[in-house]
Amino acid sequence: MTTATLGVEAIGSASAAIEAQYRARTRSSRMLYERAVHALPGGSTRAATFYPPYPVYMARGAGCRLHDVDGNEYVDCLNNYTSLIHGHAHPRIVAALADQIARGTAHGAPVEAEIALAEALTSRIASVDQVRFTNSGTEGVMCAIRAARAFTGRSKVLKMEGGYHGTYDAAEVSVDPRSDAPEWPAGRPDGPGLSPGLSGEVLVTPFNDLEVATAVIDRSRRDLAAVIVEPMMLATGAIPATDAFIRGLRAVTQEAGVLLIFDEVVTLRLSYGGGQEHYGVRPDLTTFGKIIGGGLPIGGFGGREEIMALFDARRPDPVMLSGTFNGNAATMAAGRVALDLLTAEEIARINELGDRLRTGLERVADDAGVPVRATGMGSLCHVHLTRDPVHNYRDVARARQPAIMSSLHLALLNHGVFAASRGTYSTSTAMTEADVDAVVAGFGAAVGSRGTT
Ligand code: PMP
Repeated sequence: MTTATLGVEAIGSASAAIEAQYRARTRSSRMLYERAVHALPGGSTRAATFYPPYPVYMARGAGCRLHDVDGNEYVDCLNNYTSLIHGHAHPRIVAALADQIARGTAHGAPVEAEIALAEALTSRIASVDQVRFTNSGTEGVMCAIRAARAFTGRSKVLKMEGGYHGTYDAAEVSVDPRSDAPEWPAGRPDGPGLSPGLSGEVLVTPFNDLEVATAVIDRSRRDLAAVIVEPMMLATGAIPATDAFIRGLRAVTQEAGVLLIFDEVVTLRLSYGGGQEHYGVRPDLTTFGKIIGGGLPIGGFGGREEIMALFDARRPDPVMLSGTFNGNAATMAAGRVALDLLTAEEIARINELGDRLRTGLERVADDAGVPVRATGMGSLCHVHLTRDPVHNYRDVARARQPAIMSSLHLALLNHGVFAASRGTYSTSTAMTEADVDAVVAGFGAAVGSRGTT
């Protein structure tokens, strides 16, 4: 056994003690969970917020701190899966919301803030002339794909293996296929309840492999409406695209007349003009979500005017898109302030905090003899239990140790760090260097777990 695996073994053998400490600290959460299982399947309404033995229930959040129902405090690195880029209850967002809510949340009519939020996006993002808002990133992706189909008159979509784009059927293909099948581009619907027909409609290639993507696009160009890709795959493990891959995809799709959709639901935060500005690539369509809603539910998509014009209700045959809460006044008011607060300077600051976090996590893991690679870029990070390079889904899948990750997650909670059980971390404008250092110290204590914590 190498020293690098000794630390992992130690976490494994400490798992019972870690869970016992977790249970002792979170008795009120357990009682809530026991109540929840009667009215909610598995006690939960959202796959991502459940982890065994039961999740922590939160009472309140302020800035980068969360307080659970048992009175424990956490530094929040999860930020509702990266959507709370300004942390919890930012005073300016709270004030804007309070002002709006007092005048109504949704009037069944447009409000000025909807125009302001749309203008904020079109002025920041060079490739986006016009936008439409939805209530989730999932719907934003669904609409972008619909737009691509309507614009090209073709039906197939190409996505990356391991790419997460929400819970729309066509997006739930080969997100976590748990297979090493060598052939492309056969996609695999990710679980029961999805149409088996999806495997013919949705093609899949490996992330960061331009050669395979080019061959598949070339072969399928007559049926292919769009390629959808994140500039950095977040959910699978914060894997940045290589310059060659993402620029190559742009060139190949352009040449084939296939639309390129950047899913920037997460990566918009990477620079003032989004992940696309960072890479210097202009997609045809972009999807949005998370940070643009100021903490309230949101999604959206945008792009070139000639494509977005398909949704123009003044046309005789517009692409259909409606939604009871699309553009609701409360979300628009909060989102507008959130984007105002997200200046280039603040983005640079949280990106530096992200660098500090990645370096710190790897350092303390190394001290504890646990092999860790903290991937990502800017304010987004993912902890992998390996020192090997991580370029795509299969690299992530090879390094996975679910039982160890699960113990590590509970140990982190025991040490006051709130991060995703799968290993995602993000920095927010509510954080200082001292907060990041507190996360690193908590992580150091968690990876150093040795039977007693
Ligand atoms: N695209 C990406 C890249 C995402 O990470 C997510 C959500 N994590 C979505 C789309 C879906 O967004 P929502 O959860 O708001 O539907």
